[in-house]
Amino acid sequence: MLEGQPALVTGANSGIGRAVALGLAASGADIVINYIVDQPAAEEVAHAIEAKGRRAIVIKADVSNESDVQAMYAQAISHFSTLHVIVANAGLQRDAAIDEMTLEQWNKVIGVNLTGQFLCAREAVREFKRRGVVESVSRAAGKLIMMSSVHQEIPWAGHANYAASKGGIMQLMRSIAQELAPFAIRVNGVAPGAIRTPINRSAWDTPDAYRSLMTLVPYKRIGEPDDIAHAVAWLASDLSDYLTGATMFVDGGMTLYPGFATGG
Ligand code: NAD
Repeated sequence: MLEGQPALVTGANSGIGRAVALGLAASGADIVINYIVDQPAAEEVAHAIEAKGRRAIVIKADVSNESDVQAMYAQAISHFSTLHVIVANAGLQRDAAIDEMTLEQWNKVIGVNLTGQFLCAREAVREFKRRGVVESVSRAAGKLIMMSSVHQEIPWAGHANYAASKGGIMQLMRSIAQELAPFAIRVNGVAPGAIRTPINRSAWDTPDAYRSLMTLVPYKRIGEPDDIAHAVAWLASDLSDYLTGATMFVDGGMTLYPGFATGG
């Protein structure tokens, strides 16, 4: 489905990004694996992709740093000739009550989660516009998939910087989807609910924490990274060719106001 469509995934050495990189490779794409820390984990993802018969390259870059991002795209494009799919996935949390939140915590989260997506989107669009549509490969000139969160919608006390970054991603995504549709560039978001990854380990790694988490999940199971990878593979493919500017909530119903399940 994605043969001949090299894909770049940021934060691809852990959690959701790792599963997305492996899932896109399983769909036929060659993969650029971006990481910032833990090179061995990135190399392990590359080896797993090569074992599937696809090509992979590992590139270190801080997505919040303009020159790092530009150098990453230059290296990726010179290696694979072009890029067709970008998954802007890298993200982090720096939690604090609002009256205790430092400017550093605020700037870090906005810098990686929101500015990082802007920088990756901008370089992607430059390449997609330069190359245009290659009909033998895809109906679109490029697919940009932005990793958001249910917290683009659900307020999150104690995590205002994170929720603000994800709300920002939602309007960044919709605005550039509108701007880029005439160029056959599709831009969509994925909003995961609670997914079993290192970012939220404390929410699922004890029976008590898991039970409490399940009060927020009507489908009554935690999400796995592959649940997100399957959605991303579909968004990257021509099966979703008429979809742009949408957020796909992959959350087991977390955004369905579970507190009202018994009538409110
Ligand atoms: P994770 O911590 O396993 O992965 C995050 C990845 O981003 C890591 O590889 C990390 O090294 C990388 N990263 C952090 N800062 C970076 C930087 N400056 N430059 C490049 N890479 C950087 O967590 P995850 O759950 O896999 O998170 C992936 C994305 O999914 C994030 O955007 C997160 O906000 C989002 N998300 C996760 C959940 C969940 O429940 N796990 C829910 C909603 C949204």
